[in-house]
Amino acid sequence: MINKRKAVDNLNSPRSTVDSRLCLAESSCLLTSNSYILASFLLLLLSTKVVIGQTIDKKYLLGQFDETKDSRFVKIDSQYARGSAIGKFLRRESYVAFVKMAGASKKDGVSLFIISATRNFSSQKAIWENKWEGKTKVEGKDLTTVADLPERARLILLYSSMPGTSRHHWGTDMDLNSLDNAYFASGEGLKIYQWLQVHAVEFGFCQPYTSKVNGRTGYEEEKWHWSYLPLSKQLLKEYKKQIRYGDINGFKGSEVASKLGVIEKYVEGVSCK
Ligand SMILES: [Zn+2]
Repeated sequence: MINKRKAVDNLNSPRSTVDSRLCLAESSCLLTSNSYILASFLLLLLSTKVVIGQTIDKKYLLGQFDETKDSRFVKIDSQYARGSAIGKFLRRESYVAFVKMAGASKKDGVSLFIISATRNFSSQKAIWENKWEGKTKVEGKDLTTVADLPERARLILLYSSMPGTSRHHWGTDMDLNSLDNAYFASGEGLKIYQWLQVHAVEFGFCQPYTSKVNGRTGYEEEKWHWSYLPLSKQLLKEYKKQIRYGDINGFKGSEVASKLGVIEKYVEGVSCK
């Protein structure tokens, strides 16, 4: 909105000069002012298109950028971050909404903090390949012992995304308080989860990975993962439009992405659309 207003202001200021010099007859005034209205409109249309083009390009959707050097992203204040989220970034709109939500939850005795935020392609690649190569165990298992490659990928996909397919790339999604569903089943964790279930929607947040009992496909339930829907909804739409299996590459095991239906079952396997 600010940019649009600026664009109109920029056009409005020369208009008054032109009007005073050229509006000798009423008809020429009308013509001049109509031309400026038309020019303003065209400029607005053009600037909107440019903004959309910059915001939702293929590289952004796939996480291939550096969020620390991207002006759309802001650093999370240390009071809201724990563990691996310290010093990390989120899209400004998601972060502002989170801060509002955390302020409201505090009044109800619920402390929310972010434990994972934006992860670009290269950080997701490190997580994925550590599991693929057995450096990080999955459910206590070294996955190099799984010779069947689609099965190896499927095991990682219980909770981790393939690089290029993670909602964490977008800066709209965040993990809150604990990476353990059991934590949210009783005591303090239950209180937090119940608060989120009722109030998160008021701030634009939604839990994409809910229980799978009603037929949702893809990742297991994640009570900690919340998405800022006003942005992520748009990004998911663009992802479906722009990304094909040929774009999901550059890491170990990428060749099984299409066989597993990673786009249809995982990227689109969400409760918030
Ligand atoms: Zn997450």
